[in-house]
Amino acid sequence: MSVHLFVPTFRVKECLDEIEECLVKGWTGLGYKTVAFEEAWKSYTGLQNAHFLSSNTVGLHLAVKMFKSIRGWCDGDEVITTPLTFISTNHAISYENLTPVFADIDEYLCLDPVDVEKKITDKTRAVIFVGIGGNSGRYQDIVRLCQKYNLVLILDAAHMAGTRLNGKQVGQEADATVFSFQAVKNLPTADSGMICFKDHELDELARKYTWLGINKDTYARTTDKGAYKWHYEVEHVGFKYHGNSIMAAIGLVQLRYLDQDNSYRRQLCNWYEEALSGNDKIKIVPTAPNCESSRHLFQISVDNRDELMLALNESDIFPGVHYRDNTEYRIYESAKGSCSNASYLSKRLISLPLHLRLSKIDVDYVVSTLNKLLQ
Ligand SMILES: *Cc1c(COP(=O)(O)O)cnc(C)c1O
Repeated sequence: MSVHLFVPTFRVKECLDEIEECLVKGWTGLGYKTVAFEEAWKSYTGLQNAHFLSSNTVGLHLAVKMFKSIRGWCDGDEVITTPLTFISTNHAISYENLTPVFADIDEYLCLDPVDVEKKITDKTRAVIFVGIGGNSGRYQDIVRLCQKYNLVLILDAAHMAGTRLNGKQVGQEADATVFSFQAVKNLPTADSGMICFKDHELDELARKYTWLGINKDTYARTTDKGAYKWHYEVEHVGFKYHGNSIMAAIGLVQLRYLDQDNSYRRQLCNWYEEALSGNDKIKIVPTAPNCESSRHLFQISVDNRDELMLALNESDIFPGVHYRDNTEYRIYESAKGSCSNASYLSKRLISLPLHLRLSKIDVDYVVSTLNKLLQ
């Protein structure tokens, strides 16, 4: 038996049926299923706007780019961010010649509002909050801080498809919330994402930016009065960032099962928690109060992480690490070690296998192996 970290599950027949519709219609690009998926996403999340993208990474860049231009930020202005994330989060800041300022994480592995407030200067323009593993952490405190200091809030919700806080999809308060539907996320397609702006005008502007700055997409031009209209204007130096109908077709199917899938993820996590809670060599990363997490990850911390990972591999268990403290990367050398909690946990975190094909038996196998190794 081998137990892997992530194995995505697709409803193959339903996905193929949705994709077949695209192929039969002869429409695989922007529009059609992308519009259907945007509508379905808005009604599922209750978010006001949703624009389908080729990834979350491009969405984060787009958000930073648009706020920089609208709000007149200058090169070198600061964005407060977390060191414990996938590198996309922080690249988004660097792409736009802004300066990432790292604030430390709390016990939820999310930005600690106390340290964020300490890092605010007169050059701070925005905060990017990451809900690690689906955890909302102290998101609401960050929302209040951003209101108090008039900062833009971008939520990197790459792990948060279906995460609810006080019963509502998290992200309503952020200026932009960006989801990922990458191949191994909890709502997997192959590669795609969704950006949800609070402000409707920004959603409209984003649609131009993601299609090279062209003011009318080919789908709108086709549906417009029946005849394809060839004439368009280019208003911005935009990007090729929009999503396509094949990815949206898969997303539409996966969304139908998202609540069911997340609920099974929570079941798996409950089994892990019950079985591991007696082991004092293991610290389980807690979920924030009132957060119904998507449970993209189940994370623990241990003192002898690297050795334990190798030993687990020998028992055919393949966990992961989310994430290495980004200030350890060469590009952020100047901030190295500036966040002590992140740097401490970065050496200790393990993400245990968590996906829909696992059973209670698999969880028990991982737990008994861990307990044996950690005696
Ligand atoms: C996966 C991930 C991203 C990037 O998502 P893509 O859709 O692959 O671009 C960004 N942030 C976090 C925290 C992620 O885990």
